[in-house]
Amino acid sequence: MAWLEIQTRERTSASRGKVVKTEERLNLVKEGLGLASLRDALWWGGGPVGVAETYYPHPKGWTFEGARPGQTLDPISVRALTALFRQRLVRPSCEAKWQQVLGFEFDFTQLVWVRFTSPLITPRDFKNYYRIVNRSMLTRNINPEATSLMCRLCKRSLERFSHIGKCQLIKRTFAKFVEYARNFLPGIRLTEGLIYLGLCSTKSALTGSLSALHIILWKFVVIAFVQAEVRGKKYVPEVVWWGAVRRYLARMKVYEVRVQEMARRAVSRGRNFSPDRVSVITRPCMSFDEGGECEPTPQYARLIYALTVYLKVEIPNRLPEN
Ligand SMILES: [Zn+2]
Repeated sequence: MAWLEIQTRERTSASRGKVVKTEERLNLVKEGLGLASLRDALWWGGGPVGVAETYYPHPKGWTFEGARPGQTLDPISVRALTALFRQRLVRPSCEAKWQQVLGFEFDFTQLVWVRFTSPLITPRDFKNYYRIVNRSMLTRNINPEATSLMCRLCKRSLERFSHIGKCQLIKRTFAKFVEYARNFLPGIRLTEGLIYLGLCSTKSALTGSLSALHIILWKFVVIAFVQAEVRGKKYVPEVVWWGAVRRYLARMKVYEVRVQEMARRAVSRGRNFSPDRVSVITRPCMSFDEGGECEPTPQYARLIYALTVYLKVEIPNRLPEN
């Protein structure tokens, strides 16, 4: 009996498709295989993907249109692929419209779209805000069923999208946000750029937890705006603000627990835990120490206290549902 000694290797999910040696020996004759049945495997990104001579597309033979000369599929990174796909994307029309309305040019991807990627918020939190950024709110000027064209909240101006950021009641809601954000950004002002897009200047926007709070606040503004029309519910800026704060604090708490778990896991695996990587998400309101414990700023602690006071004083259940 002829034995062929080979090193077989197997994939493990733990190593993300990378192979590990098992030192297992296979009796090829018993398996009904001869030497002639063996084919060279094709390797891609540290793992076997198929038989070398028949695999398609061959990672060294194919590439994407628009890739750099000599850049084949084999070493192409997600970053390079994203750049290639982005070249083909048509920018949404709202980008040009916003720059025209606000009167200055700015980097939409870096200042606006990037804010949707925060782990503090879920699609449930940002789907309403997405409508604002895309300028696709059903305002009375475009609603054929509207019984009046005046703003459903202030009843003083024609209700159209451009009025939302000028509406006194919406401005009062965002004034609460600015009052809190000023603790961390002393120069912040209640401008249309801030209200609609979270822009602090022509070159900067809200970041970290303040950006998340701004997006969550829009969620509650849109809910109250719709309910004012559909159910005739009165729009009260304070109620909208505290509803948003409650949701925001809950999201921060969820992330805090997640970070503590990350820190525990890092310690148990003998790895370093980097507090900076997670603090960037929650700054400027809160950061984390080396052990993954949160370190709230006094202003953030005051906000938590103020919410508890508000909830005790105000009639329970007055806050809108999440
Ligand atoms: Zn109004």
